[in-house]
Amino acid sequence: MQSFSTEDTIVAIATPPGRGGIGVVRVAGPRAVEIARSLIGREEPLCPRHATFARILGPGSDGNGDASASHRADRAIDHVVVTWYVAPHSYTGDDVVEISGHGSPLLLRQVVELAIAGGARLAEPGEFTLRAYLNGRIDLAQAEAVADLVNAVTPLQARSAMDQLEGTLTGVIRRIDAALFDLAARLEASLDFPDEGFHFITQEETVAGLSAVRADLDRLADEGRAGRVVREGRMIVIGGPPNAGKSSLFNALLGADRAIVTDVPGTTRDVLSERVDIGGVPVTLVDTAGLREASDAIEAEGVRRARAAHHVAAMTILVLDRSAPLPENLNELLSHAGVIVVNKIDRPAAWDVASICQGRRPKAKGRGQAATNTGPEPTDNVDILEISALTGAGLNDLRHRLASALTDREELRDPPAISNVRHLALVDAARAALERAGESLAAGATEELVLAELAAARRALEEITGRRTADDVLEHIFNSFCVGK
Ligand code: GDP
Repeated sequence: MQSFSTEDTIVAIATPPGRGGIGVVRVAGPRAVEIARSLIGREEPLCPRHATFARILGPGSDGNGDASASHRADRAIDHVVVTWYVAPHSYTGDDVVEISGHGSPLLLRQVVELAIAGGARLAEPGEFTLRAYLNGRIDLAQAEAVADLVNAVTPLQARSAMDQLEGTLTGVIRRIDAALFDLAARLEASLDFPDEGFHFITQEETVAGLSAVRADLDRLADEGRAGRVVREGRMIVIGGPPNAGKSSLFNALLGADRAIVTDVPGTTRDVLSERVDIGGVPVTLVDTAGLREASDAIEAEGVRRARAAHHVAAMTILVLDRSAPLPENLNELLSHAGVIVVNKIDRPAAWDVASICQGRRPKAKGRGQAATNTGPEPTDNVDILEISALTGAGLNDLRHRLASALTDREELRDPPAISNVRHLALVDAARAALERAGESLAAGATEELVLAELAAARRALEEITGRRTADDVLEHIFNSFCVGK
């Protein structure tokens, strides 16, 4: 349960679990300084924003683990550096003390336990950032950006999150909201002074104002399609007959020898997956066991998982070996394929690319001639790319194709202004309200009706920045953070 109180003092380890050069414990709240001083047994005040070297005093050596000051022997458990960020100029907006010690999980836990014994409470996931939001340091979109920044796995994801943290999306939403406010104010004035003969806004101006705002929201929603892919990533499954070179392609796209590559068909027993950056999109690449009759139980499990992965994947790459005869179940394989990769072009060809195109021109440059009509059933509009996973030929082209197939763009260079599905749903809600406003206007409805829709649109936009947000939404957002952030 997320706490919305900023009255108590919270503590948590801010660095990741495990050993490291240093580890940081963060204490925030009205009693943060007092608790920190008791941990280091310091009588004199801490100097704001100064790194102070100190010793953390452990529980008394009487062995009862009582951490209260009266039982504490003068026994140091760690050397630390303590820094006090004075309210309101801190991450959370209240007093924050960061204690940097050696990166030992044991010692860091002890520091947290001592702080709790001194009156702090263990922070909940995302509670430091929640406080920053509750204290008005950042808005909700910026708070969500913090989690995205921490979780980013591609440079574009990180840049997009950083832009959002810097307030890019907030600025866009504010501008749109200001335009709506202006429109609503003028409509309201016309409503308030109907007999004065004032024309604060004509019907044409209202229509033009509405469509300008809608165009802005449409652009944002459009950008959000690519944005969601950048933020959430996609899954690409590599399938195909045994020995076609699936694991080799997986490794080549990964740039590492992650999967075992052998000449023995059926050696990829499990579904292996890795996150890779393909043209700015974080892709979960899945290398499957061959979709074929399994010869033993373990492989059968691999095949079952491979089938399951195909169902949730954004796209399946079908790998075919050009140097070996086409597989018998080609039609079934083609029906799964989003992209067909013709592999091993460094070896003599056993079949012609055109034979899997059946008279239709492949979208990609195929080396084959126009096909006869005797081939298997092809998949329409499927890219066919010829590569060699061994030499790397054609791999760059494949990366570009994958990136453009996932995002409708060859490559995403600029971070999208909007990427979060919650924000996009609210942009859509605002668009729908404005559409209704336009319809009301066209149908000659009263200003009140139009105003009600404008208000609905503004409410939706305000939920993006968190100017108004239900507690359960906040809870949902901050619970997805890690503890200590
Ligand atoms: P999988 O069963 O589909 O995962 O196939 P692997 O990736 O294990 O590859 C099977 C064999 O084909 C291995 O010996 C690879 O070295 C070889 N191989 C994969 N790609 C190529 C390629 O482009 N050219 C050549 N000559 N051999 C390849």
